[in-house]
Amino acid sequence: MAFGRTFDLVIHGARADDPGLRAAAEWARTIGHRIRAHVTWEAGDARRFAAEAAERGSDAVLAVGGDGTVNEVINGLIGSTVPLGILPVGTANDFARQTGIPDDPRAALELVIERPPVTVDLGTLNGRAFLNVSSAGLGAETTAETGAVAKGVLGPLAYAITGVRKLAGEMSAYRARVEGPGFARDVEFLALAVGNARATGAGTVITPLARLDDGLLDVCVVAPMALGELAGLMLELRRGEHLERDGVLYAQVPWLRVESETPLTVNLDGEPQALTRLEYAVSPAALRVHVAHLPGEGPE
Ligand SMILES: [Mg+2]
Repeated sequence: MAFGRTFDLVIHGARADDPGLRAAAEWARTIGHRIRAHVTWEAGDARRFAAEAAERGSDAVLAVGGDGTVNEVINGLIGSTVPLGILPVGTANDFARQTGIPDDPRAALELVIERPPVTVDLGTLNGRAFLNVSSAGLGAETTAETGAVAKGVLGPLAYAITGVRKLAGEMSAYRARVEGPGFARDVEFLALAVGNARATGAGTVITPLARLDDGLLDVCVVAPMALGELAGLMLELRRGEHLERDGVLYAQVPWLRVESETPLTVNLDGEPQALTRLEYAVSPAALRVHVAHLPGEGPE
């Protein structure tokens, strides 16, 4: 373990006053490391801070926030070999959960200091990188409509509650043309997910076979189904046990194109946007990241 390393913390503005975070940074300084803090104020800051830190030279850039902050930081690190670290202090920390990164800031910082990084793939959607899962349809709309206030107060529960309201009220199918290597077809779906990793929506294991180092994206398409069936499916999704169910399509592909006449709400590492054309691809071995273990290889 080398001492005297430099770590750049890219901190989501809403989390800057976290006493645990300050204590963790102080602790790292007392054992000889340099901590440089960069606090975000608006969208785009995290990406820029990460790119600048990598340019200047850094031993790791740590995303201090949730999945949205992680997403900006990885996009800032593209093209550099500076590894990512994560201090998961956001409301949705799906990637951190899957890879054994502790919630406690000091424990998460220790992990970055003590464990060498691993090399993983990145997914891209229309050229923008994502680390975890991108989803369209029901799951994505749920995230888009879960207000910031509800997220803060209720955490993961907020997503579940919005999801249930959505199911009870205005459930409708989406239509799109889906194209991949060797196939092209028009599908109706409730949800479509493209996973570099496995879980999204605060713990829904939508692409349970995804590996971060196989050069492939895992695709899960859920066809329209009766409300009664859907309730059962939601339970199976919590455990990633839905692959055998009728109406669930699963594939592993290096790229995927989705085209829809009406805009689809698409979620990229927790950030929603509306798109009619989705070009998914994978960038193999594009990121180094400090984790406790790869998804599915942990002690659970
Ligand atoms: Mg993969």
